[in-house]
Amino acid sequence: MTHIVHRNLREAPPIAASGRGIWLTDASGHEVIDGSGGAAVACLGHGHPHVVAAMKAQIDRLCYAHTALFTAESAERLADMLVGHAPGGLTHAYFVSSGSEGMEAALKIARQWAIEAGQAQRTKFIARRQSYHGNTLGALAAGGNAMRRAPYAPILSDAFSHVSPCYPYRDRRDGESDSDYVARLAAELEAEFQRLGPQNVIAFCAETVVGATLGCATALPGYFPAMKAVCERHGALLILDEVMSGMGRTGTLHGWEQEGITPDIQVIAKGLGGGYQPIGGILVHGRVIEALTKGSGTFKHGHTYQAHPVACAAALAVQEAIRDENLLDNVKAMGALLEQGLVERLGNHAHVGDIRGRGLFWAVELVKDRASKAVFDPALAVNERVKMEAFKRGLACYPMGGTIDGKHGDHVILAPPYVCTEADIAMIVDRFGAAVEAAVAGV
Ligand code: PLP
Repeated sequence: MTHIVHRNLREAPPIAASGRGIWLTDASGHEVIDGSGGAAVACLGHGHPHVVAAMKAQIDRLCYAHTALFTAESAERLADMLVGHAPGGLTHAYFVSSGSEGMEAALKIARQWAIEAGQAQRTKFIARRQSYHGNTLGALAAGGNAMRRAPYAPILSDAFSHVSPCYPYRDRRDGESDSDYVARLAAELEAEFQRLGPQNVIAFCAETVVGATLGCATALPGYFPAMKAVCERHGALLILDEVMSGMGRTGTLHGWEQEGITPDIQVIAKGLGGGYQPIGGILVHGRVIEALTKGSGTFKHGHTYQAHPVACAAALAVQEAIRDENLLDNVKAMGALLEQGLVERLGNHAHVGDIRGRGLFWAVELVKDRASKAVFDPALAVNERVKMEAFKRGLACYPMGGTIDGKHGDHVILAPPYVCTEADIAMIVDRFGAAVEAAVAGV
């Protein structure tokens, strides 16, 4: 008997009893490789000694002090490490407890920027279909995940509208070149600005690499520069949601480093604290902060647990480990092996439509038919079947499906910890390949 509102109300999941490195063990003793780090969270794996020691030291010193009166040394040091050198002009950080809270803070600071910059008429956000920005009502309204939005649509803000994502696998037209496709998407964004009145738009929001909703969909070269150019033409901000794809997941600390642009506001979370503590945040461009500093002198927002001392100490230690162990190099090297392994093992499989990703962030899109890209009947829950088959074989992975604006695609994400080795990757590919084969056999 459980008294927790689990995701599945009819059946409680197994109890996770312990974790060490890339491994998780449940209460029955079943061991699994944490092949997706939850939802691309556990970037250092479990029980990393530097992080555990830093958390223990912080807990011994101070667990909590309210930010209306105090700042914490761990929060100051974390901000200094992230934005002290102003990467891409991002000079300030604001820490919260989750990705959704980070997205809410991004939306609110962007709106406040408009007011303080003397442009209070800016009240609209443009985001993308088939995106996910979180489950709180503001973040959910920003997101274009049809399945998650549906029950709450009547209570979601109408300040948000949506344009197409960059999703060449399904949305590129026959014979269309990369640059023509990108130009078409930029024209669509421009048309949406015109529809809303360009002077009314606060910001365009996008995931740098789309996570849960499209499965590791990377943008084509030139896409983000083209979208940023539209924003700049109309004086609007660019908000990049790197909750899943940021903090090293794609091989650079920030996903935008590989896109040739910089955001005005960046949302971060999962890889920030690696799951050791609940923490998310925003990194904010100097010009946004300047408008607030010169204007009201305050960000009109706040949470009881913002910049929590223990969460910040954990995140600081996670980021120190990424830096000191040269883990971004490992992400690139192991990511290349993961891609190669997936392509060799599944590239020709009749039900594998696409294998895509970057760094240690990869997804396999499963289809009923490769040629037509027809999707499986959602009732078959093929992505869930892969999850279950993988779990039986000692691998945790992250499934998703039924979310693609009525198209009901199935995909499964692998996002192993940055500390994984060549042998770990081989095991992950082997178990995952067997799970996919078993899950689609006979469906
Ligand atoms: N944004 C993106 C891109 C995400 O992938 C997620 C979570 O999966 C969120 C926001 C919401 O983060 P959280 O679940 O920590 O609230």
